[in-house]
Amino acid sequence: MKFLLLLFYSSSLCNWVRAEGAVTFDNYKILRVVPQNPQHLEMINEIETTQKCLVLLQGGNIGQPVDLAVPPHLQTDFMDNLRDQMPTEIISHNIETLINRESMQMQMESEFSTEAGFDTVFTQYLTFTKIQQFVLQLQELNPNLVKVSSYGKSFEGRDLIQVAVQKNTGSTNKHLVLMDCGLHAREWITNMECCHWLTQLCDTSSPAHALLDNFNFLVMPSANPDGLEHSWNTFRLWRKTRNTNPTNPACVGTDPNRNWAFGHSGTGSSTDECSDVYCGPAPFSAPETLALSKVLKEQEPTLYLSMHSYSQLILMSYGCDAPGLTNKNFTEQQTIANKAVQALHDVHQTTYEAGNSKTILYEACGCSTDWALAENLCKYAYTYELRDTGRTGFLLPEDQIAPTCDETSASVVTMCTEILKRNPL
Ligand SMILES: [Zn+2]
Repeated sequence: MKFLLLLFYSSSLCNWVRAEGAVTFDNYKILRVVPQNPQHLEMINEIETTQKCLVLLQGGNIGQPVDLAVPPHLQTDFMDNLRDQMPTEIISHNIETLINRESMQMQMESEFSTEAGFDTVFTQYLTFTKIQQFVLQLQELNPNLVKVSSYGKSFEGRDLIQVAVQKNTGSTNKHLVLMDCGLHAREWITNMECCHWLTQLCDTSSPAHALLDNFNFLVMPSANPDGLEHSWNTFRLWRKTRNTNPTNPACVGTDPNRNWAFGHSGTGSSTDECSDVYCGPAPFSAPETLALSKVLKEQEPTLYLSMHSYSQLILMSYGCDAPGLTNKNFTEQQTIANKAVQALHDVHQTTYEAGNSKTILYEACGCSTDWALAENLCKYAYTYELRDTGRTGFLLPEDQIAPTCDETSASVVTMCTEILKRNPL
């Protein structure tokens, strides 16, 4: 086993440096603003629609923070005006410093990561190529459990990888759990969680492995590979896919979590191709969401989990207002989510909140979990927002990868256990 792991590392080892021509964020500040009234919400909405700043954490509710990446030329009048109007906090004085710290740590750690076993995977973020190598390695080590295949192609032709983990127990009557990671490109910690969950499922000493008696798992570790590559090579804070758009060739990509049919083009999304929350010209216009929706339709999982970051939340439907439609299963979903939050807290005392996404985060239409639930494809659907609460946001330091994954996977075990209790086979 160790030999194969060494092979994996020696073939995938690379000292990551920012590519030539990569967009830099020199002296960009992360400004957190907290709207106190409808006028403040209006101001923030205008910032979002005019794309004056890159929005790192979207808003929509009074009292809930919005994080903005403010370029140097807006740090006087524009920022002062905002600070006069509502509570603000500068979270980072220079985003580029956070990015550089990330890249330097990755370089340092990749030099000694060949020495140890699986644990070393979770000391550095993985590129799409490394994720591919990782899952193939896992399949090679666990041929009776793991099957890697492709469920389609991204816009730029990369494989959309799915990893099925099933144990032959003689029973075909099992629940299915589908987990996707990395729909949003810059949320690198989520890709790591899918990889971590896969290692847990294969580790015979892990409580996750014991679930295989009653569950099959389908894991998509990189649901937006083009975006992930772009985030690594060119624009660290990239969110969308990389498809070209019909009317404005300068604006690339679709928000793959605003491109679903439920509430398409509604609140929290934009029909502006340049927007970070661009919903696409029609539902499932992005090949990445179309392919994922087909798998959900074919598989009809009991539980669907979509991993995002950041905010430390477990979100439940519906996040988009739909007249006459309520989440009938909400109370049970909330009870299970509360237990998952407790299990997560027990590992490293990290605090999460669980609730309706519109209430505890913001209204967002065209999202995957809402669609899956509204289509009756699954009984339970949750969107995770992993660490942190904004201190480093998408640039979560590598030393937080392992603890984040440990606690998240523990909460998923609890979620599955609670679902099995309520839905015996
Ligand atoms: Zn996301």
